[in-house]
Amino acid sequence: MSRSLTGGAKVAGVVGSPVRHSLSPLIHNAWIERLGLDAVYAPFCPPEMGFEAFVQGLRGGAIAGLNVTLPFKEQALAVADGPTPAAQAAGAANLLLFKGDGQILADNTDGAGLLAAFARQAPGFDPAAAPVVILGAGGAARGAAAAFVAAGAPEVLILNRTVARAEAIAERLGARVRALGLDQAAIAFAEAGAVINATSAGLSGQGELDVPLAATPVECVVMDMVYKPLITPFLAQAEAAGRRTVDGLAMLIGQAVPSFTAFFGVAPPADVDVRTLALNSLGLNERI
Ligand code: NAP
Repeated sequence: MSRSLTGGAKVAGVVGSPVRHSLSPLIHNAWIERLGLDAVYAPFCPPEMGFEAFVQGLRGGAIAGLNVTLPFKEQALAVADGPTPAAQAAGAANLLLFKGDGQILADNTDGAGLLAAFARQAPGFDPAAAPVVILGAGGAARGAAAAFVAAGAPEVLILNRTVARAEAIAERLGARVRALGLDQAAIAFAEAGAVINATSAGLSGQGELDVPLAATPVECVVMDMVYKPLITPFLAQAEAAGRRTVDGLAMLIGQAVPSFTAFFGVAPPADVDVRTLALNSLGLNERI
């Protein structure tokens, strides 16, 4: 990094545990550098029990804001003074903004990032055109379900190994959201406009999901939130069946865009290829 910071530099960052693997510093600092901002984006890893004290100590605006990653997203919502509707619906915050008057605002840009990833990698996809199937019932699934409800999906089906967790999300998000078991995937897939893997299955070293993606309509778009590996076994199965696919890295970059604007008051530059930077850092290649 060739630029130097002044005493008036604006500071933002990402907080998680662990945070060492996070691609957010790479992405945000590339944008900062391109724009020549007097700013920096840093990683923070407080002890898991110390998250609340860490955030409370930032009241007053010493730091402009923080992205929040595992395992702190629910705690971030709880510690804030006010959530945006997106954070409230998702039940979690991936963005905290520290106001000059001491207030902390919680937002969630994961849903916007998910929809941006579809717009980029599956042009023409209409979230309101057909039912959306979400596999998993953790925080990521809940945020995705809330985003698709807000985007007008006629129905959102949440399928999870532990059905009770899917039911809890459905109860919270209203009549358009239904809970099913993973064993009902073939039925749920039959009319799906999109199928999203929001489980951690497929992550390097974890188990794989065994669901019949070929049971989806040919125009169905298949997405995996996992991005390491970039082409998970789930996406490989979708590609083999001839379905359009969206990957988790597009979502990660998609959620970073509104976060950057919220921190620094300016949109990130479009001419920095942060996707290639991220792929290089992961030791991955763009698919051909
Ligand atoms: P989480 O709260 O831990 O939930 C994990 C979910 O995966 C649960 O529904 C769990 O089912 C399910 N699961 C785990 N292993 C499974 C297996 N072998 N078979 C079937 N289901 C399995 O995690 P999260 O925060 O929601 O995150 C989920 C994934 O999304 C993670 O891989 C995360 O990295 C990714 N993510 C990516 C982005 C992005 O920007 N690309 C953003 C957010 C999250 P049970 O309820 O039955 O345990």
